Amino acid sequence: MNLNSLQFDNAWTRLPEAFHSPVTPTSWRNTRVLDVSPLGAAQLDLESESIDGERLEALMAGRELLSGMTPIAQKYTGHQFGSYNPALGDGRGLLLGEAMTSLGPMDLHLKGAGQTPYSRFGDGRAVLRSSIREYLAGEAMSGLGIPTTTALAVAVNDERVARERIEPGATLLRLAPSHARFGHVEWLYQRRKAEDMQTLLWHLIHRHRPEFAEAEAPFEAFFADVVERTAKLIAAWQAYGFVHGVMNTDNMSLLGLTLDYGPYAFMERYKPDWTPNHTDAGGRYAFEQQPGVGLWNLSVLAQSLTPLIDVERLREVLNEYEPALQRTYAQLMRARLGLTAKTDNDDTSSGDAALVSSWLKLLEQHQVDFHNAFRALGTYRGDEDSRRQLANALEIAPDDKAMTAWLEDYDQRLLRESRSADERRLAMDAVNPCYVLRTHLAQEVIEAAEAGDSAPLKGLRERLASPFEQREDDARWFIPPAINAPPVCLSCSS
Ligand code: AMP
Ligand code: MG
Repeated sequence: MNLNSLQFDNAWTRLPEAFHSPVTPTSWRNTRVLDVSPLGAAQLDLESESIDGERLEALMAGRELLSGMTPIAQKYTGHQFGSYNPALGDGRGLLLGEAMTSLGPMDLHLKGAGQTPYSRFGDGRAVLRSSIREYLAGEAMSGLGIPTTTALAVAVNDERVARERIEPGATLLRLAPSHARFGHVEWLYQRRKAEDMQTLLWHLIHRHRPEFAEAEAPFEAFFADVVERTAKLIAAWQAYGFVHGVMNTDNMSLLGLTLDYGPYAFMERYKPDWTPNHTDAGGRYAFEQQPGVGLWNLSVLAQSLTPLIDVERLREVLNEYEPALQRTYAQLMRARLGLTAKTDNDDTSSGDAALVSSWLKLLEQHQVDFHNAFRALGTYRGDEDSRRQLANALEIAPDDKAMTAWLEDYDQRLLRESRSADERRLAMDAVNPCYVLRTHLAQEVIEAAEAGDSAPLKGLRERLASPFEQREDDARWFIPPAINAPPVCLSCSS
């Protein structure tokens, strides 16, 4: 199977005109594909090694399309930092075509494809830095089992793009079963296009959630599904320390995927009020705000759906968000701490919550690296030696009071478990990554790629795609940045 064998059925182009504009990609000078993702290839039923490099290059250069593609820019709107912006849409990305794969439909979206009717003042371009960051994010999130868009490949070109500095231009061939956003529904609500909104929801149901077509109230079932998936998604972000950075409603997926990676980061030294986005001075989208913002965004979506769904029902469905999020978060955190057995007060979600929150307090108090802390905890066996080793790994004094107290609780809790220390470690290693997409590592591979060496990019991509399997002699990938290292500046300008 090669790119040529992909079959397209571009359903979005058949939606009413208000949903999109046909746009031909701009072609960029001297495009080179830097890396092809086996994961992305598999989502298209392809193998990365057998992909025709020249064809992929021509596609990512905006020079050629594959047979069956009909490129369009999608129109949507959204709430940005709390304010409604009617002037959004694909400003620099194009939906080239919808491939029909064995896993279902898969959008091929070229980010950095040039200007569109929705570019406003933007140049329609993407830079290599942001394209690599988005490429790696898709791999990292997939590796962790967190729903996300992915990418088939990332390419650099010879265009010079002005951001805070002049940077190499790039394109990303992004993949998702659909790029449908909350903002698509908002657009139709604001324009009072209830009929078009019905058309959109039926489209999404038939194509992506066919099981709801026969439901008593299909639109309601669809909304409930968005609520549940968003709750689970954000629970996973919280459990793995992911901060999206720009949770505007136009960046929220109706399929519950992590979408539109910009100034995101995985939190390292644990600090719940932190955001990597330097343009978010108020911390609206800080780590600890994400669950609440998720609900705020879903409320905007609910409001937009009022022409189709009874307000009372929308309220009831929204009420499911918080418990669903808490349930998933508790499950994930219990697994991360190596706990399986139920506690007395643990019917579904609340058990072990105190142990989780005191663990997080400990990490916060000592500014411990969030990721390495969980991995290190897996080595703890209850004896003095492993306690010292753990303290060492966490960079906490072995006789630290808070840590000693927490470990006493943990010891008590482990008495209820039937697994051996070895079994627990194996299970914890399977959910606590040793490879994490750290901002400084991404920056290192970006700088190498900008200097013409894409080997580090491939090396990091491979590790992120299998983040739980530790390779030998690999310490450089685990080390968090020094406490006083200057932060990499991330902003919305990408
Ligand atoms: P984002 O913050 O990346 O979600 O983008 C918000 C809006 O700005 C979307 O409609 C994007 O398509 C648009 N946009 C972002 N960067 C550019 C650019 N360089 N050129 C044109 N449009 C852009
Ligand atoms: Mg966006």
